[in-house]
Amino acid sequence: MEERIKYYSTNLKAPEVSFREALMRGIAPDGGLYMPRFIPSLSPEELSGYRGKDYPETAFSFLYKFLKTEIEAEVLISLCRDAYNFDIPIEAAGTRSYILRLDQGPTASFKDFAARMMARLMNHFTAGEKKHYTILTATSGDTGSAVASAFHGLSNINVIILFPLGEVSDTQRKQMTTLHGNVKVIGINGKFDDCQHIVKKAFLDKSLSDLNLTSANSINIGRLLPQSVYYIYAWSRTASLPVIFSVPSGNYGNLMGGIIAREAGLPVKKFIIATNENDEVPEYLRTGVYKIIAPSRNCISSAMNVGHPSNLARIVALYGGMMDEQGNILKPPDLERMRRDFHGISVSDNTTRETIASSYRDHGILFEPHGAVAWKGLEHYRGMGSLEKEHETVYISLETAHPAKFPGEIERILDYTPPGHPSLENLEELEEDYTQMENDYGSFIRYIFKHS
Ligand SMILES: *Cc1c(COP(=O)(O)O)cnc(C)c1O
Repeated sequence: MEERIKYYSTNLKAPEVSFREALMRGIAPDGGLYMPRFIPSLSPEELSGYRGKDYPETAFSFLYKFLKTEIEAEVLISLCRDAYNFDIPIEAAGTRSYILRLDQGPTASFKDFAARMMARLMNHFTAGEKKHYTILTATSGDTGSAVASAFHGLSNINVIILFPLGEVSDTQRKQMTTLHGNVKVIGINGKFDDCQHIVKKAFLDKSLSDLNLTSANSINIGRLLPQSVYYIYAWSRTASLPVIFSVPSGNYGNLMGGIIAREAGLPVKKFIIATNENDEVPEYLRTGVYKIIAPSRNCISSAMNVGHPSNLARIVALYGGMMDEQGNILKPPDLERMRRDFHGISVSDNTTRETIASSYRDHGILFEPHGAVAWKGLEHYRGMGSLEKEHETVYISLETAHPAKFPGEIERILDYTPPGHPSLENLEELEEDYTQMENDYGSFIRYIFKHS
């Protein structure tokens, strides 16, 4: 009998559950986040074997280590093949530096990697049930479109997406509102925080318990594990030397995926935590004092405008500490070890724009704002002339969205129109369908009873 990996809550006041239950619940009943009790390790042979595997095989091999007691191998491999049917380019960019482009999925952001696998796993686990589920999610843009696309067309799962009417680009809105069917979209006359607030209230609302609400935000462990895979894949496709990754971070789900890969044995020397002007985590690493930024600062890398990252509690837990939902540190983590493993840097909007300009001008490399923040973080780190054995290190910077999602910004900076992305091409012609709503929980409740 293989040992089943149990998932505990970071608040430590809820029972441990299976992967399936953690996936379907999203958040633990005590308000904490689920984490695997132990992380399986990859042997040196397994690690070197990844070089010969394509992306779906890499995903299968890694995920099966976590899921083998809960899903059959043949099922999982076919879900992986189905989810990862697009390119994952790795672009060389100077001495032992690479850019991992995670922008070729159907909605042109890296969120497709997580959302597509999560949707397929949820569909698999609930297929035989009579129950109907509703995925409720708040978005500032990319999560909504990735989740909508990933769950579109499923028969036993509805999706309801809340977005702030004035804070989402026309393209991002159309990516969600032109799907129809089981994808319902609400534009709230408010800010992202208001949408998030309604969603959080709904999860705790006992009157909604018959609706089987679940979350597709990055608090869901089902979104994190698939995000470990591209770290392993990128390493296996470059020199397979010890690696330093630069990760453009907002809610830290992407980084958590990388950390899980490292815990499993991937030889990661360091993660560069690159943020925009929402620098609460780099500041925490520097000073040891954690201060939420509220309201969050509006930057051009808008998917990273987060003043209190929801996955920080998981990182704190992995380093032996405990943080509650409000960001209070109930037990300090091992900050010295965190400082060895992470290098935090905040990049201003002006520097982000300069980086987009200079990378294109000097090297012909095109970034959108999020990827530019990561690249600047990497340049800054290498410029520090660290003590790392340089010739034995590979550097990989993550590009998390396609430049075609930000045509206005890029045209202003470069005087050049970025190439298109197939998923964004014919959006103009499609019919939109969404409900506009005041920022009012009562209206939301009436809507949800009518539509789930
Ligand atoms: C969501 C998002 C991020 C931030 O990722 P986290 O996992 O929340 O840290 C970065 N870039 C883009 C384009 C995103 O959509």
